Amino acid sequence: EDKGRGLVLTDVRAGYGMIEAVHGVSLELRPGKISAILGANGAGKTTLANAISGVSVLRGGTITLDGVRVDRMRAHRRAAAGIAVVPEGRRILPALTVRENLLLSTGLGVRRPEIERRLDAVLETFPQLADLMIRRGGALSGGQQQMLAVGRALMSDPKCLVCDEVSLGLAPVVIDALYEGLQRVVARGVALAVIEQHVQRSLAIADIAYVIDRGAVSYAGDPAPLKDPRVLDDVYFGSA
Ligand code: ATP
Repeated sequence: EDKGRGLVLTDVRAGYGMIEAVHGVSLELRPGKISAILGANGAGKTTLANAISGVSVLRGGTITLDGVRVDRMRAHRRAAAGIAVVPEGRRILPALTVRENLLLSTGLGVRRPEIERRLDAVLETFPQLADLMIRRGGALSGGQQQMLAVGRALMSDPKCLVCDEVSLGLAPVVIDALYEGLQRVVARGVALAVIEQHVQRSLAIADIAYVIDRGAVSYAGDPAPLKDPRVLDDVYFGSA
């Protein structure tokens, strides 16, 4: 029954040392849908992304992908299970070519025809990368690097993709191109979450919105009401 349900977080708690930054978050990232994860600086969004990727260990709660528990798996096993997270600050390898960057992210034990299929899928997603395959990562523009960062995540053929601040520092037309690519990914049935500072832009494409306030979900549901700045303010900073 949970097959095809996507990524489900239930009461997830996570933090650093003595600090608990995420206090019991529950949310669902559905196949073929876009979830916007919003919240003020320090609200806990990146901590949540790290909890999903396995970079940070859960202190409580569960994470399932299509009904299968993944929260005890290490990061590389989660990636193999179908979870990809594009970390904040596009960690591409600047000295390697675009093609090498992509190939390095494929994961072990994937056979040649499948690798080629995934490369094709990346280029269908971001046709802009096609002419850049032999260029060094460090020679790309910011937007191209971000496309490459997402492309690297796609090389693991994820069922669920979480993008942390992918549009940060990019020009509006570049963000448009990046989002068009992400929408092509979603059209193939991937469950996408965008963690965004560009609130209105992400609300415009999201199927569901989650706002995180001080480590807890303060809003979950229809993105439309949040387009009203007063409603947004309320859930963003609490009404304490
Ligand atoms: P931003 O948009 O600024 O990245 P965020 O919503 O992603 O914010 P987090 O980075 O998840 O927020 O931070 C949540 C809380 O955890 C904050 O209080 C932050 O100071 C704290 N925190 C984040 N990283 C660490 C760390 N490595 N060690 C200790 N505390 C941390």
